Amino acid sequence: MKRRGVLAVVSGFSGAGKGTLMKNLLNQYDNYALSISMTTRLPREGEENGREYFFVSKEIFEEKVQQDGLVEYACYCDNYYGTPREYVESQMAMGKDVLLEIEIQGALKVKEKFPEALLLFVMPPSAKELENRLTGRGTESADVVAKRLCRAVVEAQGIENYDYIVINDDLEVCTQELHSIIRTAHRSVGRNEEFIENMRQELNVLVKGEK
Ligand code: ADP
Ligand code: 5GP
Repeated sequence: MKRRGVLAVVSGFSGAGKGTLMKNLLNQYDNYALSISMTTRLPREGEENGREYFFVSKEIFEEKVQQDGLVEYACYCDNYYGTPREYVESQMAMGKDVLLEIEIQGALKVKEKFPEALLLFVMPPSAKELENRLTGRGTESADVVAKRLCRAVVEAQGIENYDYIVINDDLEVCTQELHSIIRTAHRSVGRNEEFIENMRQELNVLVKGEK
């Protein structure tokens, strides 16, 4: 049987560099599957339906919720975002490490449903640098940038719910660090219960001849 992949939840303030890091992981390693969320937000210039997000109306989103088709969903700065269930479950069963790039309310719901999920929080090197990146990206109006920075203040209160923080100062260093944390998670005791139990039985057989 193929071993299940790690479910890695990646959160962080808007503009911290989550999307950039996810692209790097996918380009540099082949063990990852990035979940594509459903959202009611409008596409930014250059975004494509089915690539960055499944862009849907509020009605379609609510239908998906009714059908229990989302692992989790949340409202963030006036729009809904949610993680489609089928992709996550099938990719994990295939042994892929599944990346969910989602905000904090969703991350906590994932942890409830999948206690073995690994929760990672991407931090900018400083608050000022966060503002620079968010405005420098040039994708949001000044009032949306302000809303997202206010949201960051709230999100910063929830960081203790996460397992690790990674600081996205040098992009390559941060990418390596994220990858290394996820690889290490494969060796956690909780993710290896079957192997441990088999070893116990083998040892008993070896020492006492017991089955
Ligand atoms: P998020 O997905 O967290 O909102 P993005 O990945 O869109 O953030 O990154 C926000 C902006 O910061 C983008 O313009 C991106 O190119 C830039 N950026 C990301 N990581 C770094 C980094 N390590 N150093 C400098 N700029 C970065
Ligand atoms: P953006 O509008 O910048 O693409 O995303 C806004 C926020 O929504 C980010 O913090 C992003 O991680 C989060 N997000 C994206 N997809 C999902 C999702 O499926 N569920 C939840 N809960 N948050 C999401």
